[in-house]
Amino acid sequence: MATILAALMAAGCGNAQNKQATITTIGVEEFAEIMIQKDVRLIDVRTPKEYAEGHLAGAENIDVKAVDFAEHIKDIKGTAAVYCRSGKRSLTAAEQLVKQGCMVYNLDGGILAWQKVGKPTTTVETDIFTTRSGKQVKIHALMHSSIRVEFNGWEIEIDPCANLHGRTVDYSAMPKADIIIVTHEHFDHYDSSTIALLANENTQLVMNRRCVEMYGSGTAMKNGDRLQLADGITLKAVPAYNTTKGREQFHPKGRDNGYLLTLDGLNIYIAGDTEDIPEMAALKDVDIAFLPCNQPYTMTPEQLLRAAKIIKPKILFPYHYGETEVSGIPSMLQGEDIDVRIRHYE
Ligand code: ZN
Ligand code: ZN
Repeated sequence: MATILAALMAAGCGNAQNKQATITTIGVEEFAEIMIQKDVRLIDVRTPKEYAEGHLAGAENIDVKAVDFAEHIKDIKGTAAVYCRSGKRSLTAAEQLVKQGCMVYNLDGGILAWQKVGKPTTTVETDIFTTRSGKQVKIHALMHSSIRVEFNGWEIEIDPCANLHGRTVDYSAMPKADIIIVTHEHFDHYDSSTIALLANENTQLVMNRRCVEMYGSGTAMKNGDRLQLADGITLKAVPAYNTTKGREQFHPKGRDNGYLLTLDGLNIYIAGDTEDIPEMAALKDVDIAFLPCNQPYTMTPEQLLRAAKIIKPKILFPYHYGETEVSGIPSMLQGEDIDVRIRHYE
């Protein structure tokens, strides 16, 4: 502790160029500038409950008091910005991050100091992943099937919808999208006014054929098609359909898309509206999977478990779950080596 505090004082404040493993405790204004810098890992080390009640935009939640904290931070390199409620727990987290070589910025006074000066918080949950070459992928759980992904300066919006059963997403506050990906035409996936709001002349809009016809522009992909969207960003359209008798008409085979989005080698499977179909067995090396869970339109929890065991993703986000009870899924997949993360995708 004493050596860290000494290093802290020696380091002074806010020199982001100094890549030494030190802890620098800084005030709200400086923290606000550092936390948005590219490649800075912003970590809220409070409990999931505290995080859910409101946190800094773009922060991931890794509870420093959780038994698996060390496991969750082991891949974090470079610069991290940490905070807790008042600044105590974040210092403990910072000490561990420094041990593995990180340069750490600690928010003095925690989120209490942040809120005291009127800075905003959000309830949108963010998960951060690192690609093989060390680039950051931020996944923001907006709503139901709507996912926002930030990767290496690219803004990617999947099934962006602004309004659903009284829940809203304020897309006007977000950057324009570089890439918009839509699975199919249903209102909880395809929202033409939000696409128009997010798009500018440089936006790549990729959808299934029906949506391209409805919108009047965009690139149509059918099941099996592949596209290179940018350097390090590829997209493959995969099947998504119903198989239960009497429900095939909801999502007929061949009409809609799921997608395999690959960002610098990180494979993200966005299943779309589908049941557990045999084509899922062909998906290899899925790092992150989004699997839908609401019958009659998609899967029951039992079907989702079957799908998860076939796909074997490292991380699983149940999504598109509406009022379906998904809280038991993590324990039902215990022993499968799948990190199940329940976010606000109801
Ligand atoms: Zn649908
Ligand atoms: Zn749907």
